[in-house]
Parts: sequence; C-alpha cells; structure tokens
Amino acid sequence: MSDNLLSRFLRYVRIDTQSDETSKTFPSTPGQLVLLEMLKQELTELGAADVQMTRPGYVMASISANTRKARVPTVAFLAHVDTAPDCSGKNVKPIVHRKYDGRVVKFPDKPGLTLDPATSPELRTAIGKDIVTASGTTLLGSDDKSGVAVIMTLVERLLRETKRKHGLIRVCFTPDEEIGRGVDKLDLRMLGADVAYTLDGGPPGEICWETFSGDAAEVIVDGITTHTMEAKAKGMVNAAYLAGKLLAALPRERCAPETTDGRDGFIHPIHVEGRTERSVVKFLLRDFELNGLADKGKILRGLCRGLQASEPRARVRCKLRKQYRNMAYWLRKDMRPVELAREAFVAAGLKPYDHVIRGGTDGSRLTELGLPTPNLFCGEHNAHGPLEWVAVQDMESAVSACAQLAELWERKS
Ligand SMILES: [Zn+2]
Repeated sequence: MSDNLLSRFLRYVRIDTQSDETSKTFPSTPGQLVLLEMLKQELTELGAADVQMTRPGYVMASISANTRKARVPTVAFLAHVDTAPDCSGKNVKPIVHRKYDGRVVKFPDKPGLTLDPATSPELRTAIGKDIVTASGTTLLGSDDKSGVAVIMTLVERLLRETKRKHGLIRVCFTPDEEIGRGVDKLDLRMLGADVAYTLDGGPPGEICWETFSGDAAEVIVDGITTHTMEAKAKGMVNAAYLAGKLLAALPRERCAPETTDGRDGFIHPIHVEGRTERSVVKFLLRDFELNGLADKGKILRGLCRGLQASEPRARVRCKLRKQYRNMAYWLRKDMRPVELAREAFVAAGLKPYDHVIRGGTDGSRLTELGLPTPNLFCGEHNAHGPLEWVAVQDMESAVSACAQLAELWERKS
C-alpha cells in the first residue's frame, strides 16, 4: 500500500494548485481544476461509485454501503486541493528521504536552508520513517495533498477489503480552502452526508473539534485632498496619517497574533492601503468565544470613533463581516463524531489527543451549516513554507484510522 500512497502523493504535489485571493473565479486558479480532474479520473479507475465533478468544481464520489443494517449514518471524508498563497507551489520537486536518520536535512535548490530537529523537534518522531520534503524554493503542498492522498488510498482500501462492513461513504475534494472560500459553493444536499471529517491536520492521533470564531473588519478613512501648495490654506486632511494613527492605537501588546497564544484572541491588521484621499485597513478578528469576538469588534469600533473625534473633517467607517464560528458550539451538543474518531484512532494503534486550532477550517463552516465536521490528522508539518515535510508512515496511519472509523460508524449504529 505504501507505494501507492506515496506515488499518489508525489503525483499530486507536482501540480501547481496555489489559490489566489485576488481572483474572482471559482476555483480561484486553473491548476486546481487540473488536480480535481485527475482525482475524478482516478476515482473512476479505482471503481468508486457516483463519481462526479459538480459545476463549481468539487469532486465527489461514493463507496456504496456493504452492510445490511439500515440507518447507518453516511460518513464523508474531505480534503482541499489548493495550496497556500504565502509560498510558491510551482514546479514542486518532492524529495523522498528513505528511513530518515535524524540528521539536519539540506535542500538542493537553496543551499543554506536547513530543516533541523533542533528547531523542528517533531522531526524526531520521524526517525526511521520515510519523509518527504520539497527542494528548497517552494512549499511541499502536504497541506493538504497528504489529506487527498490519504482519502484516495482509503477509497482503494475500502473497495478492496470487502469484509470490512460500513455504511455509505462519501468523499469530496474541495478547492480554495486557503483563501477561505472552500465551502462557498458546496452543495450539502449533493454531498448527502450525516457526519464528515476533513483530513487536514498534524501528527498521528490529532483530532480537532475546536477552532477560533472569526470576523473580518474593514476600516475606510476618507480624507480631504488638495494640491500641496495650498494644503494649509484649503485644509488638507491626510487619510494616510489617520490610518497610521489607528494602527498605532491598537492594543498590540496584548491582542495581536504575535503577542498571544493559547486561548487568547486578537485583532490583526492584514492589509493597509494609504493615500491622502483614502486609506483602507483590513483586519482579522479572532477569538474562541463569541463574546470575546464581539469585544474585539467593540475595541476596533471604539478606536474608529476616537479617530473620527480627533479629526471631524475626515470620514471614518468600520465594517464588520462574519467569517466562521467555533465548531465546538455545535459539536459539544453531540460529541459522537469526535468520540468515534478517538475510538478509531485507538483501534488503529494510535494515541488520540485534542488539538485546539488557532484558526478556522472548512469544517468550522460545515459544522455551523449542520454537518458536524471535526478535523483529523494526516501528517502535516511546517505548512505554508519551504520547510514543510510529511512522513509516509503517518499518512498510512491516517488511512488505517479512517478505515476503522468507517467501520465503527457501522458497528455502533
Ligand atoms: Zn489545509
């Protein structure tokens, strides 16, 4: 199995599927459709049922139930095909380090760059395993092509191991997760699942059922522009200065991603555009709790009111937009999807542990929409950068764990 899983993974990471937040199309980039088409083709060749690409570009397929029991919940497994805009995903040259020996890893395309167990201690868990890295100038794309390769191998395994009883299994590959549009056009009725899992996590055993809640904010400051020669006489109001003033007033020392961890949320300016006439500052607001998130919005609105009061000739507007909510609000009401995942991990010889994500997942939105969707490990490390790596054996553990999970949903129904 290992070579099938590995060769799949190597095939997928070579396709440039970087998503692009400035794009107006869906999927945001054509490379994603290349991989999605490939997956559709491979699912058909594997013998999966109902293989289809939906109009927006999601690829779905089924593994028919092989149980006589009625009322077994339909379980879906999802992974995203795009890679992060933060780092190039073009011409990825994956390198397989067989039986990793624990030493510092060097990169042929970037002398000087090193992957060092001293700074990436999780590497020590991979000693003796086969690890895959990129070559130094790109990311690897293990986020989330590990998840894609795991699910494709799971399909193959469930179709082959017919003694393993399970209900209807759905698989779904999605675009544009990294730019927050992953489930925008996903038709949940078409997916037809009662419970789902995204395969997009870290080391073996990791289960995530709690994420941030997130809002986005945009502050628009309109100034008054004149020719500089008569700026004093005509009363120029420079919106660029006002944007700077707003940034300087943020409670950065206790409320920024770089100054917080654990369960503390933050206000994070991600984009500043400043001209005399108009400035725009975009923010991410994050907190695990809804009241904490609302507080972040109040702080920002308060700062905007203060800015407006300090310069009445300007016009300051603050717009908040909902992004996603902590999936724990819904999962806590019915922990079965999480409990069965834990049980499946134990059955697969792993030690389950909870991981609270300081971020959102496609599952955050799916869970809010009524489809409980915790996130499970698939072996990702150092995502979104050139030091990304994955161990083949960790991906294999994810395949085994998901196969156990499919079986457990049948047995416990
Ligand atoms: Zn991901």
